[in-house]
Amino acid sequence: MTTPTPYWFQPALLETPPLSGAKVLQKDQPPPGWSFCVFRLVSVKSMRNDLSLRDRVAIGGVRLVNVASRVLKRGSGTVAGGQIGLLVSPELLKKLARGRRTVLVTGTNGKTTTTAMVGAGWGSEVATNDTGANMLAGHVAALVGSASEHVVLEVDEAWLADAVSSIEPEVVVLLNLSRDQLDRASEVRQMAERWRKCLAGPGGETRLVVANANDPLVVFAASDAARVLWCDVPTDWQADARSCPRCTRALVRTGTSWHCECGFAKPTTLGVTLRSGLVIHGREVPLELSLPGHFNEANAAMALAALYEVGIDPVVAVARINAVRGVAGRFTRRRWHGHTLELLLAKNPSGFDALITTVQDGHQDLWIAINARIADGRDPSWLYDVPFERLKGHRVWCLGERRLDLAARLEYGGVDFEVVDDPDLIPVSPSPTALLANYTAFSEWLERSDSC
Ligand SMILES: [Zn+2]
Repeated sequence: MTTPTPYWFQPALLETPPLSGAKVLQKDQPPPGWSFCVFRLVSVKSMRNDLSLRDRVAIGGVRLVNVASRVLKRGSGTVAGGQIGLLVSPELLKKLARGRRTVLVTGTNGKTTTTAMVGAGWGSEVATNDTGANMLAGHVAALVGSASEHVVLEVDEAWLADAVSSIEPEVVVLLNLSRDQLDRASEVRQMAERWRKCLAGPGGETRLVVANANDPLVVFAASDAARVLWCDVPTDWQADARSCPRCTRALVRTGTSWHCECGFAKPTTLGVTLRSGLVIHGREVPLELSLPGHFNEANAAMALAALYEVGIDPVVAVARINAVRGVAGRFTRRRWHGHTLELLLAKNPSGFDALITTVQDGHQDLWIAINARIADGRDPSWLYDVPFERLKGHRVWCLGERRLDLAARLEYGGVDFEVVDDPDLIPVSPSPTALLANYTAFSEWLERSDSC
């Protein structure tokens, strides 16, 4: 007769999120002593032999904060845990990343989805920051949470240089750059310059930059990198790149091409093209996504390009990516008080522009929820850069803490709207209703609704 392993002896208990305090307490075995827990936190098998005692204590701190946060229902604890780890051992991220094959994904829009696509397409366990914590602390938590040799991390645009210097990735994916949360972030040209300096720096000889050739700001950012794979993917939003990033003259656009008098122009050596079909290094790839929108096709093309570099056959990888149906609740159907809602996240003008394209057909009523908390950007004036005029003919139900700001914008745009103080009063529609929300509003609706 075999004796079952006590639950507190299972490495997964301290390594694999999500960890629920309630789940632990349902077990029959006696709880371990604190000294044993501390021993487990700093000595589990995933720790590498080249880590110092200081690093091990730091990793133990990351895990302890993660566990405590979940038990106390204070969230995943990834940011706080990662911060503790970096405080104890400032070089922890570099040491955790050493020897692993890493893809970094950054850009204003699409990085969470593209990161998920790379993870799915890799076809094996990957270490990733799927909680959305995309600064260094989140990266530390992701690398502590999984010992996988394969890593894909979403990176906040402003933290790319720090992430590249610490992690030394094999591939960096640059999706796009547009204005976002200007009350706390850089103007896009400043950001592009910071990316350019970082990618032209040390380590670039072997690193591949997968870059969107249709975004002039991205092309500028990648222009001095040693190895670049240019991707000709659909990029509708051009409002933030009307002038040349190099000389500020107006860019000239002709069809799908663009150039400036100074010689700065769309690259002509294209390793990936997505027009009538997807072609990667001359090979046709059957892209049939479950996720909606041209923007997701562009994300998938760039994810496949990154996977090609780490040795994954694009035809094999695309089947895995085609099967991705929702990413962190985005693009999923949810039930709430009799309504069927299609949850869509948009945080800035270019993101809204892309989503408005996907909902223009087949939806009469839309719900749009806007907050303006720190994570959203305190200043909601970006609403005036969103082409809401394209929603004429629809009725928009205005939700969220800044619903009046949204309503004023729609009034100027000539769009039919209703301001909603109590969402329970919205009549139930027999067909699914698209709900577009910015960051914290999206999180609220994801939490209060149920999966279909
Ligand atoms: Zn120029």
